[in-house]
This record gives sequence, C-alpha cells and structure tokens, in this order.
Amino acid sequence: MLIANHGIEDLSIVIKNVGTLLTGDIENPISDASAVFVQAGKIVVVGSDKDFDADAADMVIDCNGTTLAPGLIDSHVHPVAGDFTPRQNQIGWIDSCLNGGVTTMISAGELHYPGRPTDIQGVKALAITSQRGFKNFRPSGVKVHAGAPIVEKGMVEADFREMSEAGVKMIGEIGLGSVKAGYEARQMVEWCRKYGIQTTIHTGGESIPGSGLIDKDVVLEADADVIGHINGGHTSLPYKQVCELCERSDKAMEIVHNGNERIAVLTARHAHELKCLHRVILGTDAPTGSGAQPLGIIRTISLLASLADVAPEIAFCFATGNTARVRDLDCGLIEPGRAADFVFMDKPMNGEGRTLLESVRVGDLPGISMVMIDGQIKCLRSRLTPPAATMPVIVKQPNRVIELR
Ligand SMILES: [Zn+2]
Repeated sequence: MLIANHGIEDLSIVIKNVGTLLTGDIENPISDASAVFVQAGKIVVVGSDKDFDADAADMVIDCNGTTLAPGLIDSHVHPVAGDFTPRQNQIGWIDSCLNGGVTTMISAGELHYPGRPTDIQGVKALAITSQRGFKNFRPSGVKVHAGAPIVEKGMVEADFREMSEAGVKMIGEIGLGSVKAGYEARQMVEWCRKYGIQTTIHTGGESIPGSGLIDKDVVLEADADVIGHINGGHTSLPYKQVCELCERSDKAMEIVHNGNERIAVLTARHAHELKCLHRVILGTDAPTGSGAQPLGIIRTISLLASLADVAPEIAFCFATGNTARVRDLDCGLIEPGRAADFVFMDKPMNGEGRTLLESVRVGDLPGISMVMIDGQIKCLRSRLTPPAATMPVIVKQPNRVIELR
C-alpha cells in the first residue's frame, strides 16, 4: 500500500473533496479550491472536480473533507550521511520527520560528521561529497538539500567559486567554524552572493563546544540571507537584541524548535507587529543535543498559532511558502507548476477544536494521514502524530504494472 504508485513517473492523480486547502502563500493562505490535479509529479490544476476528468486519472484520492497543505520544509537541519546521525547514534530520524509531514530539509551544515575536517581542502571536499550524497539518495523520499560547508578563516574567493561550480548551493551557519567576526563573515557572504550560494548565520550563544557567541552586531554586519535560529540554538540573544534584528534587517528570520521557546513566541509577535510575517521561516535545528524531533515543525506551528496569536493558516506558511521563497525551492505552494509535495491532515481524534485549524489554534497537533512527495505516496497514516479524526481514502489505484525500486 505504501508504494502503491511508486515508480510510475507520469502518473496522473486527482485529489478531490478537499475540505480546507492551505496554499502556503501568506498573501492568500486558504483557497476556495476543493481539488488538485497532479501529473508526472507536478501540480497541474488547482480548482474543483469539474475542472478535470477524474475518471481518466490513474489514481483518485478522496480527502473526505479534510485538509491538504504543501509538504512542510525544515529550513535548518544537520544531516550527516543518509538516514543516520552520529549526534544521537540514531538511524531513521529523517523517516520519522517524514511522518511529521516534512518533505524537504535544508542543511545548515554537516557539522556532526565524525572527525569533520576544518582544513580548507577538507571543508570543500566534505561539502561536495554531502551535496552529491543527498542528491543521489533521498532518505524515505525526503528531499534533503545538503552540502553546506562550515566556513573557516583563510577561505578565499576562489574557494567559493570552486564550490559553486561543483554544485554547492549554500553554506552552513556562519559561526560554527572559525569565522566569528562581523567583517570576516560579511566578506564571505559577499563572495557567496557573487557565486549564487545562499548564506545563513548562527545567532545567539554557543550551540556545541567549538561554536561561538554571535551577537546582533555580527549578524547585522554579516547580512546573511537567513538569520539562523533567531531564537537561539539553544541559547538566545537577549530579547532586546532580537527585536533589533527584526527591525534593522530585512533578511529571513528563522525560528527553530530547538531554540528558546519564549523568544520564539515573542519574535513571532514582534514580526506580526512589524508586519513582516513573510520573513518568518521555521526549522528544527535537529539532530541536536535535545535529539531529533520528528514532529518539531508541526509543534512549532502549533506553538506559534496558540501562544503568539498568529493565525494557524499563516503559521503553516512559515514552514511552506515562506521558506520556498527564501530558499528558492520549487515546492512549498499548492499552485500549478510546483512539485506535488503534500501533507494530508485532519484534527486529531477527540481534540478540542472542531476543525484542523481550530485544533492548531488551541495548541493541539494535527493528525497526519498521508504524505506525498513528487506525486508519490511516501507514508499513509503517520506512525507518530495523534490519529486524524477523518482519513482520506484512495478510491482508485493505478491500473498499471508497478515497478518497485
Ligand atoms: Zn544549527
């Protein structure tokens, strides 16, 4: 059942009877549409059943009035190799995150690699190897964008050009290596921009031995694309400094599960007051000292929707469309042309809320009933979330030879 449509590249799918369609677009977070047509892993039409011929589709999924959202994006993870993390000696953490609705992950540096090289040749080699490894192998189907070097003192422009030419698309959090001064970080951010490499800076106190304090002056001077874990990972800057980052920078503000939860809530409130919720993106910063949290993204959505007075449909945008825009991804929105990455959800059984959005608003977690990546079902009922009150049903299966791989 799990691999019902696995291996059929041009499969057409109708997803119908959607009760609430969360678009991921912060300008228009809830759509009136009730059906989506998918072909060859891409969204083709978003509308109603009448807009296409359901009988002609290879596969039909009836949502039974439940909620459809874009696959969730974790903007901040620390993968190492495949689905293994030496940080907690754990296998299968990415598969667990899939069961928490995550379909895409962005590496903020492969810093837990045992014996991680810090010489420049080694830094570049590890980045290129990690980029290739996760491009060639998707653990449980999850798209892990990795190959994020931890920059070190002594790196020169030619190093960034070389990495860019070799396929490196982003660097790890600045501050985890020996580059900790604002002017050094700024120089490397400028080189990255020149060669099309995205940048993130660590924000706050030391995360693990060897990392350093990065305060608001360094963050502002570096001007990286993403203010990584603005609520600390785990140790936050004082709230006054966080406010200054919200006010004086125009860059993305990343709130992480493995950070200071009080500052997470206050940051979202402040972003709301400043009318810059489009800058908020979510990550877990997992695996970390606290472990890997498969439900970290939906827990953070629920935290912000229940305690920071952010509308739940907006909180979902923090982990979908906002991140896709900041990270330049082809997923994160339910609109034609995007990757068919979806989370099927409903309110949890016996929760207080009458709908999914109400249940998130009161602080409960969604029940995830299916996750799809590029039009392929990667998990049915989540083995980790509370059970969904109502489940979608696959009413038509592909009538073709299924090639397993
Ligand atoms: Zn991190």
